[in-house]
Amino acid sequence: MADRVKFLLDDSRIPRAWYNLLADLPVPLPPVLHPGTHQPLGPDDLAPLFPASLIAQEVSTQREIEIPEPVREIYRQWRPSPLFRARRLEQALQTPARIYYKWEGVSPAGSHKPNTAVPQAFYNREAGIRRLATETGAGQWGSSLAFAGALFGIDVTVYMVRVSYGQKPYRRALMEAWGAKCIASPSPTTAAGRAILAARADHPGSLGIAISEAVEATLATPGTKYALGSVLNHVLLHQTVIGIEAMEQMLLADDEPDIVIGCTGGGSNFAGIAFPYLGRRLRGGRAVRIIAVEPAACPSLTRGRYAYDFGDTAHLTPLVKMHTLGSTFTPPGFHAGGLRYHGMAPLVSHVAQQGWIEARAYPQNDCFAAGIQFARVEGIVPAPEANHAVKAAIDEAVRCREEGVSRSILFNLCGHGHFDMQAYTDYLSGKLQDLTYSEEELAMALAALPSVSSS
Ligand SMILES: *Cc1c(COP(=O)(O)O)cnc(C)c1O
Repeated sequence: MADRVKFLLDDSRIPRAWYNLLADLPVPLPPVLHPGTHQPLGPDDLAPLFPASLIAQEVSTQREIEIPEPVREIYRQWRPSPLFRARRLEQALQTPARIYYKWEGVSPAGSHKPNTAVPQAFYNREAGIRRLATETGAGQWGSSLAFAGALFGIDVTVYMVRVSYGQKPYRRALMEAWGAKCIASPSPTTAAGRAILAARADHPGSLGIAISEAVEATLATPGTKYALGSVLNHVLLHQTVIGIEAMEQMLLADDEPDIVIGCTGGGSNFAGIAFPYLGRRLRGGRAVRIIAVEPAACPSLTRGRYAYDFGDTAHLTPLVKMHTLGSTFTPPGFHAGGLRYHGMAPLVSHVAQQGWIEARAYPQNDCFAAGIQFARVEGIVPAPEANHAVKAAIDEAVRCREEGVSRSILFNLCGHGHFDMQAYTDYLSGKLQDLTYSEEELAMALAALPSVSSS
């Protein structure tokens, strides 16, 4: 066992290809459907929104997809990201478990999101696009795309969920510092936004609404394309750089994870760390338990229905089969804003449905307690989203102690919490409430699911 607690790769070891789980699925992913005809979508249907190169990645079943050299060149600024062994956390927990975390907070925007923002900006720029529209929840995606847009000379407009626009003013400042324009959503600038505001002038917004606004703005403005920070296959693909590096670093640590953990909002950082391991298992490799962790206040994987639904509130997006709480669901304004999405990546939903991964949900106070415990021994203050993964890792380590077995636990520490200190202040002063979501509310939002015969 190595004594080092930090496992670093040389930057020549930045992966040369992303890993595509679609290549190894024994059961194929259900098709994406046209919202009007309910027929499987063709590549042309997506052309107004995305450049051809990203559409090709969205449907590709090739196992390895080469990372363009200009993207690797930018990755080099913070990749390979470090992998730490959490020895002090292990000691504090008195656990025989070996706990490792992959630290994605070292990127310029402070999370895993630039791993896909950079290639998305690159491919759009290659296609001659100079303007991108997007949405953001807590602001991590908006700031990541703003950063990538600045590097490639692309104007970025971000529709930011209103409750976060108020809660996280410094994320907005960060987007503006990188040259993006940030608009509180719902906004009067789109028909989708105006319809919501007419019904409720103080609507807190949701990712579903912000997606509608960004898609509408894209379709209405020639020369503009749309970018999404999670959920889609190509986004998950780009994030696999995390897991591919982690695999090599675990070799340096002379260990292999028995359990791999990630938090899930739309599913991208989870997929990033987990899919390379899942793929290896599906190809007959080493068994590994994989755990997705979500907030109890937005429990799509654990309490949602696996059904065809829209990705947005105004129903402008295609229909995808996923675990959903219903596209009209407005998640309560809890603090892990990046996890406040009604649906789940179709690919993550699919592997959950096959029983290849586990899912669990935690209330936010328990997650902040775990984050504080982690910060006091490991030093890093995690993003509220990342606290969900920290909590699950701690629970699994405690279980190892109780069962008297040593397992190796790897989790993705997907971002830092430096822009989320108001949430920590609220937690530390006992002001955070554990919001849950009643069966009636759940049934109501699910009653509005579109009826699709093939589902
Ligand atoms: C955006 C974000 C998430 C949620 O998105 P996923 O696609 O599920 O990864 C989680 N953590 C952080 C730090 C984020 O920025």
